[in-house]
Amino acid sequence: MKTLRTFFLFFSLLISAITVPSCDSSTNILPAINIFTDADDVKLGDQVVDQINHDPANYPLYTGTNADAITSYISSTVVGEVLKSSDIQKKSIYNYQTKIHLIKDDKTMNAFALPGGPVYIYTGLLKYLLNESALAGVLGHEIAHAERRHASTRMSQEMGLNALLSVILGENPSQLAQIAAQLFTGLTLLQNSRANEDEADLYSFKYLTDSKYYSGSVKFFFEQMRDDGLVSSKSDKIALFLSTHPDPIDRIASTDTRLTTAGKPVISYNSTGSGINLYINEYQTNIVSKLP
Ligand SMILES: [Zn+2]
Repeated sequence: MKTLRTFFLFFSLLISAITVPSCDSSTNILPAINIFTDADDVKLGDQVVDQINHDPANYPLYTGTNADAITSYISSTVVGEVLKSSDIQKKSIYNYQTKIHLIKDDKTMNAFALPGGPVYIYTGLLKYLLNESALAGVLGHEIAHAERRHASTRMSQEMGLNALLSVILGENPSQLAQIAAQLFTGLTLLQNSRANEDEADLYSFKYLTDSKYYSGSVKFFFEQMRDDGLVSSKSDKIALFLSTHPDPIDRIASTDTRLTTAGKPVISYNSTGSGINLYINEYQTNIVSKLP
């Protein structure tokens, strides 16, 4: 196995050195190389979770009775619906439903995913969103980052050749731990590219198409922020989820195009009327009303 992986790495690096002119994955001719296995992604994610658990100053986890009830509802109902999609193939490896975490910070409207499936949701985001569909859109997007392995693919591209080889060859067994520490400290490797963000929006759309939620729900957060005059804000409240690259307005437009192409109605986060169910009451009852 290791020999095959090593051969593949050498081969891939050789080809990529010849044909890939920049690190912007949107211009790559070949599919992005990822030298990590799914099991590596799980290990990396677990290690970052462990570090987050030991850093309550920066990551004040929300725990307790209501937190358990909310987490359990989100995992079973919202994530459960998203996971109905046959486009999610790593559900038995990444176990998404056991890896939902809440951070108690009402000022931050954000969510982020780690390699291998852990997803963190800030209470600020839960309080801001108006319906369960909007949350499903965000979770579909975050699950797509894990499922499509954006972080470890980017790390494969950004790490030096020696570091990559020592992971592959097993010469430095602590390499994964070092990478996890780097991931945690800088969080720079979690800064997704424009191409990653667009792909995560696309897959959120695909995943939700097989669920009870509106397939274009990933845009609801952006629409709400646009109407509240928040999209131009560069505040760190929205830094990770929106990131600095893709314009939220473009992301609304991309989603609307996907809806139109698929022959689906284009509605908004605050649309009402017959045939429209964004699961407002369920969201209020099971999530918002239980938040501190
Ligand atoms: Zn993202």
